[in-house]
Amino acid sequence: MRLVIVGGVAAGTKAASRARRLDPEAEITVYQEEPEPSISECGLPYFLSGVVERRDELVARTPEQFGESGIEVRVRHRVEKVDPETKKLTVRSLEGGEVFEDAYDRLIFATGARAVLPPISGADLDGVSVLRFLTDSDEVRRYVQERSPKRAVVVGGGYIGLEVAENLCRLGIEVSLIEAEDRVALAYGPEVAERVEEHLKKNGVNVYTGAKVEEFMGDGRLEGVRFGGGEHETDLVVVGVGVRPRVELAEEAGVEIGEGGAIRVDRHMRTNLPDVWAAGDCVETVNLVSGKPVWIPLGNTANQMGRVAGTNAATGENTLEFPGVLGTGIFKVFDLGVGKTGLSEEEAEEAGFETFSVAVEAADRASYYPGAEKVFLKLIADGASGRLLGAEAAGSGADKLVDVCATAIWGKLSYPDLVNLDLAYAPPYGPTLSPVIQAATVLSGEFDRARRGVRASE
Ligand code: FAD
Repeated sequence: MRLVIVGGVAAGTKAASRARRLDPEAEITVYQEEPEPSISECGLPYFLSGVVERRDELVARTPEQFGESGIEVRVRHRVEKVDPETKKLTVRSLEGGEVFEDAYDRLIFATGARAVLPPISGADLDGVSVLRFLTDSDEVRRYVQERSPKRAVVVGGGYIGLEVAENLCRLGIEVSLIEAEDRVALAYGPEVAERVEEHLKKNGVNVYTGAKVEEFMGDGRLEGVRFGGGEHETDLVVVGVGVRPRVELAEEAGVEIGEGGAIRVDRHMRTNLPDVWAAGDCVETVNLVSGKPVWIPLGNTANQMGRVAGTNAATGENTLEFPGVLGTGIFKVFDLGVGKTGLSEEEAEEAGFETFSVAVEAADRASYYPGAEKVFLKLIADGASGRLLGAEAAGSGADKLVDVCATAIWGKLSYPDLVNLDLAYAPPYGPTLSPVIQAATVLSGEFDRARRGVRASE
């Protein structure tokens, strides 16, 4: 059996390794456009600043290492066409330029996503970059070394923009962050967004919300940015306004695309074409809370999907299922941890839920224990059933709270279950009752009052 995988980062290489393990006889080839496979893109912001010192630390396995386990990884090769009738593909070598044909018995699309560079005048100037691949971070690092920028602009207040802002600050650069919407961290509710914005300012970042970039100015080389009607001198711009799934190749081959623009797959990661699977940032999945299709491109889920696609492609059967996602995510900006799982209040209401939500600000450990800090936690519940729909946390220990809540949502727990959760406690690790229990107790009071017809203010 010959398995061909298009794309060799998180989903593609996971699928390849899994297939290798299950079928030692299979011929497995991964085509990868970038110069390296298996890149840890999540580490790129930290490579910019030197927190991660060596480039090779971000390459989990080289083509040679894959070769040792019998997986052929052909880097700098782009698959240009897939013909599902003949099971042939057309491949271009990006080094020599030669074009050749290959054939497959089974195929996995793991083509990922690409960073959006909006069509703003001057976006092609030297000094304007996105951050998606290791080659992008090479470009930004080269620019920083050659030009020693004093000022930088980060466009976009999503988690990548925020991580980049922090890491450019670490280089001693004065950073301005521009966000077109009225708040940063848009996937979160306004309470978390406010905390993030405050934290950015506290750490010296100039934050402009509700500001659209009108032009990158310069003559060959970047000199400034025009936004909000004013001109601002800058030496470096990193654009982080989002990513889009890379589906052109699959779409041309006849693969069905979902409404959100990513590849539609079933629970076994199969596309509508025979013997063709897809996984990672190029596919949509199901939001397990709303039950609706969703596209949330993240590294952990790309790996999990790759495992399922690789297994099923190796066996040719529906051996494993990928059930869907909660949209659990976390990021750090300076020393503030920010995470969420499930739906935000806005998303829950859009999905048709009538929500009850509460927020608490609790200590991250016993308040008398040295170093105790605050953590914010918001719980969003379904007003009809009491089931937990979402949670957002910001502050020290946010990761733990988000993971507890993700597990609770996964298990379809309601607020009375959370009130009695048996969670670990000792003074250095948390307050006597976890902030999750504290928030659930407040939520329980809200439900009681609502049941008795008493308004929250009474
Ligand atoms: P990709 O990583 O996009 O890889 C797809 C590969 O396929 C690419 O190398 C591409 O060149 C190649 N390809 C595409 N088309 C072809 C073709 N026709 N022929 C050959 N090759 C092709 N996620 C988290 O969960 N947590 C984080 O903290 C986090 N931080 C991030 C920080 C940054 C700066 C970035 C950019 C991403 C971050 N992510 C994070 C997201 C995570 O990196 C992605 O979700 C993950 O890499 C997706 O893996 P993938 O294999 O699906 O796709």
